[in-house]
Amino acid sequence: MTTPTSPGPRPFVVGIIGGGQLARMMYEASIGLGVDVRLLAEGPDVSAAGVVHDVTVGDHTDPATVKAFAVGCDAVTFDHEHVPAGLLRELEDSGVVVRPGPAALLHAQDKAVMRERLTALGLPCPAYRVVPDAAALVAFGDEQGWPVIAKTSRGGYDGKGVWKLASAEDADLPFAGLAPGVQVVAEEFVDFARELSALVVRSPSGQAVAYPVSESVQRDGVCVETVTPAPGLDPEQAVAAELLALTVAHELEVVGLLAVELMQRRDGSVVVNELAMRPHNTGHWTIDGAHTSQFENHLRAVLDLPLGDPATRAPWTVMANVLGGAVDDLPSALLHCFARDRRLRVQLYGKSVRPGRKVGHVTTYGDDLDETRKRARHAAAYLMGDPDA
Ligand code: ADP
Repeated sequence: MTTPTSPGPRPFVVGIIGGGQLARMMYEASIGLGVDVRLLAEGPDVSAAGVVHDVTVGDHTDPATVKAFAVGCDAVTFDHEHVPAGLLRELEDSGVVVRPGPAALLHAQDKAVMRERLTALGLPCPAYRVVPDAAALVAFGDEQGWPVIAKTSRGGYDGKGVWKLASAEDADLPFAGLAPGVQVVAEEFVDFARELSALVVRSPSGQAVAYPVSESVQRDGVCVETVTPAPGLDPEQAVAAELLALTVAHELEVVGLLAVELMQRRDGSVVVNELAMRPHNTGHWTIDGAHTSQFENHLRAVLDLPLGDPATRAPWTVMANVLGGAVDDLPSALLHCFARDRRLRVQLYGKSVRPGRKVGHVTTYGDDLDETRKRARHAAAYLMGDPDA
C-alpha cells in the first residue's frame, strides 16, 4: 500500500515582469536552481512565454494586473525597466519583495536622475545638462563645442532616443513629440575609442561579485559583439572599472545584475554611458564563458542566495548577436554551424525573424582571440544570411 507523501517544502517563486529573451534565459537558469518562475508577459507569443508554463498575459503598467501577479512571489524582478516606479513603490509598500527596488531602478529608468546621482558620487560622467528647450541645448553646445549628444531621459533603447547633433540647426529634433515627464539631457560628445561593459551582481545582504570587463561593439546603436576580457585593457583599469560598477551597486543599493556601460576615451580613461539593472546583452557570454551565468547570479541575488563565481572558463570568450536577416529558418541553419564548429554555443530566442531584431546569439571561447572571434563571427553571419563571412 502506498502512503501519501507530503508535498515537502515549496520551491522559491520568482515573478519576472516582461517576457523577452532575458526572461527566457533567466527561466533556463531557474530550472537548475529548482526555482519556480512566474511570468508577466506582454503577449502570448513573446520569447519567454514560449517556454515558461506559468504565464500571465497582461499590461505591466496596470496596477491591478501587476499586484495580482505578484501575490505568492518570493521576489519580483524584471526583463526590462518599463514598470512605472510609482507602481513598484505601491507593491513594496504592500509587502512585495521587488528586486531591484524602485529607488535603485529609477537610475536605470531615467538618464537625468542617473547623471545627477553618479556625478554627485564623484563617478566619471560626460559633461551634461538637462535642457528645457532647443535654446538651452544650443547654449550647451556653444559652451561645450559641437557636436553634442542629446538624449531623452526615459524610454530610449538600442540607440533610439539618442541624437548626435552636428550644429545648432537640428536642436529642435529631440523635443519633437516628447512624452509627458520626459526630459532632454544634453551631453558632451565623447569621442570614445571603444565601449566597455562592467557587470556586477549584488545581493540584498551586500555580497557582490564582478565579472571581468567586456568590450562591446555596437552598430547602429545595437550591440553586435562582446569580447571578454576586453582586449588590451590595462589590469589596473580593469580593476578600476569593476570597482566603479561595485560602487554604483553599493551606493544605489542595487539588487541583482547591474550593467555599467562605459565609454573609453582615447587617453584610456572611462566615463559612464548608462546603467541597466537586469541581465544585459553584454553578459550573454557568461552562460558558456563564466562559471556562473549572469542569469543564475541574478536569480541567486534576488533570492539572497550566495552568489556564484563570475570567473571565466577560458582566456577569451566572444559573443556575437544574431540579428534578423535573410535566414528565416534558424534551426535549420544550425546544421552548418554545428557541423563546422563542435564547440560553438548557440541560444535562439524563439522569436520570428524581422530585419535587425535580436533573435539569438552565439558564443565561442578559446585560447586565441583572433581564432575565437572568427568562429563567433562566422556562425553569427551565417545565421544572419551571409554564408561567406
Ligand atoms: P540607449 O538607451 O538607446 O542604449 P545610450 O545612452 O546607451 O542609449 O546611447 C546609445 C549609443 O550612443 C551609445 O552606445 C554610444 O555609442 C552613443 N553615445 C551615448 N552617449 C554618448 C556621448 N555622450 N558621446 C558619444 N557617444 C554617445
